[in-house]
Amino acid sequence: MDFLGDWLYLIIGIALVGVLTLVGLLSGRARKAPPSPATGTEVIAAPTEPGVETPPEATAPPVDAGPVAPTLERPEGTASRLTRLRQRLAGSQGALGRGLLALLSRDRLDEDTWESIEDTLLLADIGVAPTTQLVERLRARIRTDGGPDTDVRAILREELIALVDPDMDRRLQVSGEDGKPGVVLVVGVNGAGKTTTVGKLARILVAENRTVTLGAADTFRAAAVEQLATWGERVGVDVVRGPEGSDPASVAFEAVKQGLEQGVDTVLVDTAGRLQNKAGLMDELGKVKRVIEKQAGVTEVLLVLDATTGQNGMIQARVFSEIVDVTGIVLTKLDGSAKGGIVVAVQGELGVPVKLVGLGEGADDLAPFDAAAFVDALLGG
Ligand code: GDP
Repeated sequence: MDFLGDWLYLIIGIALVGVLTLVGLLSGRARKAPPSPATGTEVIAAPTEPGVETPPEATAPPVDAGPVAPTLERPEGTASRLTRLRQRLAGSQGALGRGLLALLSRDRLDEDTWESIEDTLLLADIGVAPTTQLVERLRARIRTDGGPDTDVRAILREELIALVDPDMDRRLQVSGEDGKPGVVLVVGVNGAGKTTTVGKLARILVAENRTVTLGAADTFRAAAVEQLATWGERVGVDVVRGPEGSDPASVAFEAVKQGLEQGVDTVLVDTAGRLQNKAGLMDELGKVKRVIEKQAGVTEVLLVLDATTGQNGMIQARVFSEIVDVTGIVLTKLDGSAKGGIVVAVQGELGVPVKLVGLGEGADDLAPFDAAAFVDALLGG
């Protein structure tokens, strides 16, 4: 009897879940605008309800949020975001600074100690040439007998800031000219964090009261398009998308067209990053850029690199910089790696500044990069 009762509950349960899923799917479809006959692109209109404040802790990564109508979120404000992320940066990178300081504070700085300093820097992915340069500078400035008046920390701080280069222009070019939107093209290999970065950047711009349109031009990955659509819905930003496998350039074109028509401040365009075929990627990104430039100038090309990939990331950086004119680097997943030295390596390699750093999977875990703040985080504040 009990056995039969269990089965009955199970069957009723399955039927109920089925009905609810069907209702959810139907209401989800109803929200999307019909495809445009010309290009097959469609626009997911942002919800129009007024914002409801959500605590930052509640903003889980927007993967597979499903078709349930979202509540508009208010992205975290700049001041609290930066304070929080600075602490997180110190948490992931602090060991490097502490390690260096401990070595430099030894009573006697002999050859073994200098070698250990070099190893520490190399292990943090700073790169061979900058490591040699830094060690030479430190050797010249710190007396080898380590006199009691030597402020090792201050010297290390100064030299590290000089290495990260405080004079690079790290401002994001998100505004266009002649009343046109700024257009930001986001490139990088799959998995580096492009889509997430576009979503996070949209939130920062929305928090700064700018209007934004997103272009989901990574048309080869259905998940990327859905993911971006969810990011847009959460903060009330339109997402222009095309059918899976459609021409990325046509989606980029439509996104910029819509941005122009609606007079938004910035259009952010996500792109596909399949590295198997450099010529193919070059054609694709070249075409995306050309069709955008028929309507408005590309004001920023951000290369997204995963900080945990070390040398592999550097190879990717080189390939992409040959394909497009990269104007800024976004270093993601710095929270999952103690190898912040890659900031120095990649800037040296490309001659382009790191402009943003990703410090987690949370919706507001993206911070502008600042040389002094970065070094202070390394050295524990
Ligand atoms: P894409 O293929 O380049 O568009 O990469 P995605 O944006 O889909 O990101 C790939 C994975 O990296 C996702 O699971 C993201 O949540 C994760 N991710 C992106 N940025 C960060 C970051 O700064 N920190 C951490 N820990 N994970 C990140």
